Amino acid sequence: MRIYKIIIATALATGLSACFSQGEKTQESPKVSTKKEVKVDFNADSAYSYIAKQCEFGPRILESKAHDNCVEYMTSELRRHGADIVEVQKCNVIDWEKKTRKAENIIAHFNPSAKKRVILFSHWDSRPWADQDGNEATRRKPIDGANDGASGVGVILEIARQYKQTDFKVGLDIVFFDAEDLGEPTFITGGRGNNDSWCLGSQYWARNYKADSIAKPRFGILLDMVGDADAKFHVDVTSGRFASIAVNKIWSTARNIGYGDIFEMRESGQLIDDHVQVCQYADIPTVDIIDFTAYRGFPETWHTHQDVIGNISKTTLKAVGETIMTVMAKE
Ligand SMILES: [Zn+2]
Repeated sequence: MRIYKIIIATALATGLSACFSQGEKTQESPKVSTKKEVKVDFNADSAYSYIAKQCEFGPRILESKAHDNCVEYMTSELRRHGADIVEVQKCNVIDWEKKTRKAENIIAHFNPSAKKRVILFSHWDSRPWADQDGNEATRRKPIDGANDGASGVGVILEIARQYKQTDFKVGLDIVFFDAEDLGEPTFITGGRGNNDSWCLGSQYWARNYKADSIAKPRFGILLDMVGDADAKFHVDVTSGRFASIAVNKIWSTARNIGYGDIFEMRESGQLIDDHVQVCQYADIPTVDIIDFTAYRGFPETWHTHQDVIGNISKTTLKAVGETIMTVMAKE
């Protein structure tokens, strides 16, 4: 609780907001090991089709038909891929206008009796505004969120599809968070303040998390914006501070299987994203794999109407999917 407040205070002091920040430095750069790895293949075509399907529903805005359709789609895909348990966690969240909104987190467990577990996260909602778009006339319209939302879900659904076909020893938990991207729009705030209006689904999940009959995961991996052609994955402050062992595993593996040009062991900055909630309240050390660098921020399509399926790169999806599956195979 205390550390969370310090992070928020730091973010406020530097004018940062959820999904929106510029460069503070981590204190130490974790070291990257180099050795031969046997990489686990990942089907980027399949992941791409999961992303396209989400976009076909339209923007996944809370309490919309597209939102309902996407819940049905994600839960049926997780069941089809052999999840032992699939749950929809319904919750009420309070948005930036102090309105109560209905949100739904999607939760799945594979091999629930395994004691050694990893957990994968992504947000699945799409932003109701294009507040970073160059065209002022369409800034109040929702975005497709092909990269920002659908890409993380697509990669994780493909890992779920391959989970039972691959001889993983490690148990797998999945949570798709709702209401990550509901934060106060910049045409209201000018880009400042109200950090608590982001990550509402993960706030609820993390504050109510209990390990109970399913063992607590050793570490978590959050995927956010993992499909841009020019993606760079650097290490943000929270990942470095709370999950440095997992950071080492992921970035070392990526480098050893040929993706060191995308996963660069460099400091990015302070982010408020779903992993902050998970680290603080669920006490699961969680890494954010997010396309964000200190020198250019988020990708150009971020919170614009250019965040569409046509701008998703299968090369980047493959790099992310293979890295995670290779890490999982070693657990
Ligand atoms: Zn976003």
